[in-house]
Amino acid sequence: MNDIEIAQAVSNVLSRFTKTTSDTAPEAVSEIAQATGGDTLDAIVARALAQAPSKAPATAVQSPACEAGNGAFASMDEAIAAAVLAQVQYRHCSMQDRATFVQGIRDVFLQDAVLQGISRMAVEETGMGNYADKLTKNRVAAQKTPGLEDLVTGALSGDSGLTLTEFSAYGVIGSITPTTNPTETIINNSIGMLAAGNSVVFSPHPRSRNVSLYCVELINQKLAALGAPANLVVTVTQPSIDNTRSLINDPRINMLVATGGPAIVKTVMSSGKKAIGAGAGNPPAVVDETADIEKAARDIIRGCSFDNNLPCVAEKEVIVVNQVADYLIHCMKKSGGYLLCDKQLIRQLESLVLNEKGSGPDTAFVGKDARYILQQLGVSAPEDTKVILIETEKNHPFVLHELMMPVLPVVRVDNVDEAIELAVQVEHGNRHTAIMHSTNVEKLTKMARQIQTTIFVKNGPSYAGLGVGGEGHATFTIAGPTGEGLTSARSFARTRRCVMVEALNVR
Ligand code: NAD
Repeated sequence: MNDIEIAQAVSNVLSRFTKTTSDTAPEAVSEIAQATGGDTLDAIVARALAQAPSKAPATAVQSPACEAGNGAFASMDEAIAAAVLAQVQYRHCSMQDRATFVQGIRDVFLQDAVLQGISRMAVEETGMGNYADKLTKNRVAAQKTPGLEDLVTGALSGDSGLTLTEFSAYGVIGSITPTTNPTETIINNSIGMLAAGNSVVFSPHPRSRNVSLYCVELINQKLAALGAPANLVVTVTQPSIDNTRSLINDPRINMLVATGGPAIVKTVMSSGKKAIGAGAGNPPAVVDETADIEKAARDIIRGCSFDNNLPCVAEKEVIVVNQVADYLIHCMKKSGGYLLCDKQLIRQLESLVLNEKGSGPDTAFVGKDARYILQQLGVSAPEDTKVILIETEKNHPFVLHELMMPVLPVVRVDNVDEAIELAVQVEHGNRHTAIMHSTNVEKLTKMARQIQTTIFVKNGPSYAGLGVGGEGHATFTIAGPTGEGLTSARSFARTRRCVMVEALNVR
């Protein structure tokens, strides 16, 4: 009996114990052991059950609450149990199998109908962002998320033999996904996490339930067609904060990945588990007098309006030296900026888009279109309006808080050093993203060193840092707080050393 057959036998027997409790689990082990009599089998089952829940260890193999193969389970407990078993089976798949499954996920989401469908659904369900940019983001997630090639083995050879350092699966990953990039994050995380040999339990934002479940279903259908173990990618039918808490607290989850705001990042980091936190940003764009101002204006408007400013990397405030401020604003207006000057309208905008405390955005306006926001003020803007520009003081709430809507405050400063200093302040130590438009290499270097962001884009739109029009791979989980940076398959793996003593070196 080979490993795959053994894993299948385990699955078959365990599926008959769907109503069992922990007391009857050993019965299952012994039945399987009798059936096949192998030590290997015992080890596999023991491992599976050791990681299984204290009650109903095998209930998720065939959950009555969901259609077979769609990956959505009625409870988090069942979803996790299914992912645990899937991971045990996945260990027995070859690297070629993994590569096939990863390619399968890419293929699903690169079909025009699927790409268009999920992009439209995401906008309609969340009420955020715009269709054309979601298409781009989903496409780039499917195309440019690294796969197995990211897992480069290290080798050391010498008189003492050969030592390999390999990227190995963490096990079962719990991934908490945001409402701002719901589908992109599921595509991106699924590819990276499966490439590294893990299974994954998604806990999506409740506001993006339907489109998230649809993505998980599409992945499951494709993986089933390719002969992958069932339930490598699962979720719950009713995403909720409670379900996310259950995911975080479940001992069967080996790693947590949170892509979202400060609260969820802090929660996973305090969980006692290995956690990757991809948190909030407030990316400043600095423009100095040496920049190509016309290009800077175009890039800032494009970056700021990309998916209606939802990406965590998108320009959230502009800091410009006095000498070129007027010309920059003039050029931004030509590129789709609408300058709001009327003081009363600005006050109305503040009370419209900020929450009651003025400490952040009103969710109702997150990811909305610039013209829609202006319409609420009774302003009818030209059709090509992409961004609302407002000149503000440096301590205005629009500057200090991450708004995630195309409302862009512009702050004037005396010189580039002051601009860099202010950019560092308003980035709040998030270590997320910053943008600078300048041809002064010394000042570019100074800003990069002082601001310490994970992404620093020079002379381009922010999204170039995501691999859209810039070199480098794509990710939608940018882990500043925990330091993995632009995550990829290796971020979801642990390194293991394999040592052959006094042999296999051929020099
Ligand atoms: P959010 O923090 O409201 O939600 C993110 C996820 O966490 C959701 O699944 C939500 O259900 C869950 N969640 C939130 N608070 C929770 C709590 N107290 N307990 C349990 N679960 C909780 O964020 P959002 O509005 O969906 O996304 C926008 C935020 O995410 C922004 O701050 C943005 O900068 C950030 N973000 C960061 C990255 C990155 O890669 N660094 C990517 C996308 C979004």
